[in-house]
Amino acid sequence: MNTPAPTRHDVLILGAGMSGLAMAMALQRAGRHDFLIVDKSAGLGGTWWDNRYPGACVDVPAPLYSFSCAPHPGWQRRFAAAPEILAYMQGLASRHGLARHLRLGTAVRAANFDENRGRWLITLDSDEVIDARFFVCSTGPLSVPRWPAIEGLDSFAGPRLHSARWDNTVDMAGRRVGVIGTGSTASQLVPELAKQAARLTVFQRTPNWVLPRFDRAYGALDRLLFHVPGWNRVVRAFWAATSESFRRGFEPGSQAQGRLTALARGHMRRQLRGDEALRQQLQPTYPIGCKRIVFSNDYLRAFTQPQVQLETKAITRITATGVQLADGSEHPLDVLVCATGFDVQHSVSVPITGRGGALLQAQWADGAMAHLGTTVAGFPNLFLMLGPNTATGHTSTLLFIEPQLRFALRAMQLLDKRGSRWLDVRADTMQAFNDELQQRLQGSVWMQCRSWYRADNGRNVAIWPGYTPEYRRRLAQVDFEREFVFG
Ligand code: NAP
Repeated sequence: MNTPAPTRHDVLILGAGMSGLAMAMALQRAGRHDFLIVDKSAGLGGTWWDNRYPGACVDVPAPLYSFSCAPHPGWQRRFAAAPEILAYMQGLASRHGLARHLRLGTAVRAANFDENRGRWLITLDSDEVIDARFFVCSTGPLSVPRWPAIEGLDSFAGPRLHSARWDNTVDMAGRRVGVIGTGSTASQLVPELAKQAARLTVFQRTPNWVLPRFDRAYGALDRLLFHVPGWNRVVRAFWAATSESFRRGFEPGSQAQGRLTALARGHMRRQLRGDEALRQQLQPTYPIGCKRIVFSNDYLRAFTQPQVQLETKAITRITATGVQLADGSEHPLDVLVCATGFDVQHSVSVPITGRGGALLQAQWADGAMAHLGTTVAGFPNLFLMLGPNTATGHTSTLLFIEPQLRFALRAMQLLDKRGSRWLDVRADTMQAFNDELQQRLQGSVWMQCRSWYRADNGRNVAIWPGYTPEYRRRLAQVDFEREFVFG
């Protein structure tokens, strides 16, 4: 059988989430129309396609969760719900005619850099090979669901759901439902499940800090104003500045951290209506900001309802009929929900092979590492979107995506101008940057507890230790001639 010739494109984008979509629009703006977006899901949206659990919504204000080039005057609420965000993304894709660039329901099996030709050969699960000059990996850190490593998980006889693969055919009404996990996802899910389940048991391993969610509906006047030229920019700038000032609360021992802690403690007291026993169980013992803060006005309160039970004893195993605890007791359950987060360490699951046959995943065995979260030495013309150490606990990821787009476009244009085939960040540049990064993270708030920010060996692979403007500035100031090699 003849193998079909590879299909040539200028750019292959892996992942049709926020950053993949943004990259596609940026390429179009730059006049580069020869690109393909591949995503294994059946629809575009990335995290917003995957996370369809009841109550899913964004926890940064929607004007800051919209692209600066594509403001959305129609947001219904300050903290938009998942379907609204998905509709925003679908609207953008249709306005920009992205359907013809999209290959949904298509997984990438492997990506190999062909050094002789200076191009990426990307094999799809259909065996088709895409021959692309540039490879944009926009899979994001939170894309691979992580099931809890608990003995007997597979033996549970009833429906077992992961929050990021929600099955809305599972009926919760009148049933005994268990939720494992107490992170941002669980905080949104628990109040919704409490409305349906006969009995809801939340299994908490570590409590989370919870702050009030200053949400409100956007009314007709807001929407009218959002149509006024420039108003969106003002609101976006306001929320960007507010988020940066909130970030001061992550400085260990600062007054701002004290104020944030006091706000969270007060919120908890009000939410729990003076139930001291509950307060003690839900009160974190690590500093605020170490884990991603939960923003909610109904999560803590849910535990005051008679049908909702907080379980803090350690889980020893899962049986066919429920969850067994360290003291030998068992919670019988009809449905088990795992809001146990994502496998951040293996978020790039496609084997990526660079120069000299180096495998990205092998290079990342001790934790992911990149230069400014965007390029990796030995992997030319590969651009990571929201790569290692570009997450924050205080602002919108879009504020990190946008500088990354500009950086990638600048690199592409430079190669065109120079007539070079590829560029690759120098290994010593990347190492020096990561040494600095890890040094700054030492002693920071993000090293004082377990969280998805950290690899199994404790290295912080997720957090940007500075403020957002620094990231933007450093990426804009990259000196390609000095910090990169060309081929
Ligand atoms: P997560 O923050 O990683 O939380 C996972 C939860 O599962 C934690 O409470 C963890 O406990 C628990 N867990 C994991 N394995 C366990 C085990 N074997 N036994 C018992 N408990 C176990 O995941 P997430 O809540 O899905 O959130 C991930 C991130 O996604 C967030 O931090 C946020 O950045 C993003 N997110 C954002 C939004 C939003 O914008 N609205 C919503 C959802 C998620 P430990 O704490 O003890 O490890």
